[in-house]
Amino acid sequence: MIPAQFDYVAPTSVEDALSALAQHGDDAKIIAGGQSLLPVLRMRLNAPEMVIDLGRIESLRGVRDDGDAIVIGAMTPHSVVGSDPLVAEHALLIAKAVEHLADAQIRHRGTFGGALAHADPGGDLGPPVLVLGAEFVIAGSGGTRTVAADDFFVDLFETAIGDDEILTEVRIPKHTGWGAHHEKFVRVAHQWPIVAVAATVRMDGDTIAEARVGLANMGSTPLRARAVEEALAGQPATDDAVRSAAAKAADGANPPSDLNGDADYRRHVATVLTRRAVLAAAGS
Ligand SMILES: Cc1cc2nc3c(=O)[nH]c(=O)nc-3n(C[C@H](O)[C@H](O)[C@H](O)COP(=O)(O)OP(=O)(O)OC[C@H]3O[C@@H](n4cnc5c(N)ncnc54)[C@H](O)[C@@H]3O)c2cc1C
Repeated sequence: MIPAQFDYVAPTSVEDALSALAQHGDDAKIIAGGQSLLPVLRMRLNAPEMVIDLGRIESLRGVRDDGDAIVIGAMTPHSVVGSDPLVAEHALLIAKAVEHLADAQIRHRGTFGGALAHADPGGDLGPPVLVLGAEFVIAGSGGTRTVAADDFFVDLFETAIGDDEILTEVRIPKHTGWGAHHEKFVRVAHQWPIVAVAATVRMDGDTIAEARVGLANMGSTPLRARAVEEALAGQPATDDAVRSAAAKAADGANPPSDLNGDADYRRHVATVLTRRAVLAAAGS
């Protein structure tokens, strides 16, 4: 279908984008890469009167070093994030997840901030930013505020970003030297995961000193598998030890049932993918 008619502006600064948002209120919608918004407009699930394009705001693009963190601009395309050397060195889990995100065209147009603002519970980037303890920098008319990853994902397709606010950048604390692996189970290549698991591990010799494990499509938001993380700390990275910890992957999760699999199936897949992801992240 063709979207309903809308007006369009492409401001060149965050301030001008915020003014346009304030001026048009509920009738406005931000567009980043358009990879999720345009299908919504074409299906007429949303019909904004004004579309505000962030594509000309240069300050929202790029990856930079900021001491103990790296900072990823909201408008940085997935393809740039996935090949950035700072991301590979300090947040390898994000690079691994981007490798599995959709296809090359979507990775070229879609943006880091757009995917996180869209907050699809099956999105590949939610679990990595959650487990890496990211902070989201959100600009509004009153200035900027920072929201911790634990508070950012509120519900299905709902984040802490207000209607009159813009996500400008995401700060990722450096996890230099941590192993990382992303496992994604799909029915059709280049599609959203039925379940995905993002694992990153800090090794001390043959022992798992610390592990972080995140799950996609196991609830209405990305989830952290804290029971697995606790069970892994101090354990050897052997198949037996990791299998036993991974059995807790679905603890506290509330996965959906749909045509791709029911909730019990997803719980089982989560344990299998968690074992594989942790073993690979640990280099075993
Ligand atoms: C066929 C297909 C397959 C896909 N497969 C996958 C997949 O396997 N894994 C995966 O993770 N993703 C997948 N995606 C989605 C892809 O990651 C998109 O790039 C992403 O979801 C949206 O990013 P975008 O930049 O295109 O945002 P847009 O579509 O432009 O915007 C998405 C939403 O976020 C809001 N928004 C965007 N930027 C901001 C901002 N800076 N501040 C506040 N609000 C903002 C918009 O208003 C809109 O509501 C797929 C998409 C398609 C079309």
